[in-house]
Amino acid sequence: MRTKIIATLGPSCFDYETMKAMAQYGVRIFRLNFSHSTAADFVPAVHNIRTLEKELGIPLTAMGDLCGPKTRIGEVDGSPLQVQKNEIVTLGLPDRRSDEHAVFIGLDFPELLKGLDVGMPVSLSDGMLQFTVSRVLEEDALFELKAGNGGILTSHKGITFPGKFHPVPALTDKDRKDLHEGMEIGIDAFALSFVQTRKDIEDIKAELARYDRFVPVVAKLERQNAVDNLESILELADAVMVARGDLGLECPLARVPVIQKRIIRACRHAQKAVIVATQMLLSMVRNPIPTRAETTDVANAILDGADCVMLSEETAIGQYPVETVRFMGEIGADAEAYFLERVQGPYQPKKEKNPDKYLAYAATLLADNLDSEALVCHTSSGATGRLMSSRRPAHPIYALTPRQGVLRYLNFFWGVRPRPVDESIHSHRERCERFVSTSEEFSSGGSVVITSGQPTPGQHGTHTNTIKVYYK
Ligand code: PGA
Ligand code: MN
Repeated sequence: MRTKIIATLGPSCFDYETMKAMAQYGVRIFRLNFSHSTAADFVPAVHNIRTLEKELGIPLTAMGDLCGPKTRIGEVDGSPLQVQKNEIVTLGLPDRRSDEHAVFIGLDFPELLKGLDVGMPVSLSDGMLQFTVSRVLEEDALFELKAGNGGILTSHKGITFPGKFHPVPALTDKDRKDLHEGMEIGIDAFALSFVQTRKDIEDIKAELARYDRFVPVVAKLERQNAVDNLESILELADAVMVARGDLGLECPLARVPVIQKRIIRACRHAQKAVIVATQMLLSMVRNPIPTRAETTDVANAILDGADCVMLSEETAIGQYPVETVRFMGEIGADAEAYFLERVQGPYQPKKEKNPDKYLAYAATLLADNLDSEALVCHTSSGATGRLMSSRRPAHPIYALTPRQGVLRYLNFFWGVRPRPVDESIHSHRERCERFVSTSEEFSSGGSVVITSGQPTPGQHGTHTNTIKVYYK
């Protein structure tokens, strides 16, 4: 399958054989969620990933997901308690509580309450309880909220202030600790939750700069201002995630489908990978087959142009982790065939001076016209692999790179099959030719289209500058 499956690891799938079956059905990236575990808990999983890579002969990526500043309320007296529609409750800093407040929700984050005003929405328990601020009792500290619906209020649930700007950096102290511990256990990529601005990506990149290996950063878009700031975030992020769980709380839920489409479009134009995540096949946590709506959701994400589709609870705590991955792969295979036949259509990059983009584009056109078996590119930084992928060619893209970090980064990209390269050969073109001539994945007499950088009198580096049709 060209679309990459990301599966979240958890108690349901930590064992080697389960992970192996998941990889065989299309998982290329395993997600390690730091919301519920620490790096030490993931040591066996990373070990399994490295062993699997050798056994299956494909690079696999361990993606750490840093939880960011997800805010939770404190202890609620009498929890769980029933809240009636139109009931008034009090929200405030824990030290402002007094006996006057029958139902008091403590929130120990002064910066979040700052600027909260009458009429603003407040959402609790993953959006199941919706309130509006009805009175400010003490500015920036204590408020009355009116319940828009009835429901159960429980201690320590997540709280969101839809649409409100929080001056809170995405990278928390806990995230920094998780990042460094994660680097030590060999994590290959990090996703950062609740990104709002380009600065959040600068922060995490600065932490990663202390290491001498390339570790891509995935910006999780789950706030309205992240969507608003997408262009600048994309300049720096290596991939983004449409994190529909929290996005659906922070933005009006009805707008999430179109937001997903806009984000995917922007990512393809920026040649950055895009992941669609959360509740894709949620009912498979308990059932061996998904709902019709879920099946359609996975297909539609692929038709929208997503590079990766992600599973969360389905594989982490579900009863059918392997079956879920297999189902996702089947839906993906069918959706891709339709995507290539009908949705994709003739594509031309916009008129701009961008020789790298045009070279990648030209190679895909040529491969098509020749009925070649594959595209093979030498890509030290991964850029040519990304550029080719963004053209969505029907041919597999073999991306050869000597850098392990790039190899595992390229797992995020649609249609890309990252492969290590024999560095004992000097010429990049010869490296590609050797790969084709020795690999059983290509048939004798068939053609492949190779791109590489060959030194010329005026260009001594190995920047991609040639396309060669190679007959095996
Ligand atoms: P989470 O992120 O599962 O870490 O919350 C994904 C989402 O919000 O959709
Ligand atoms: Mn989230």
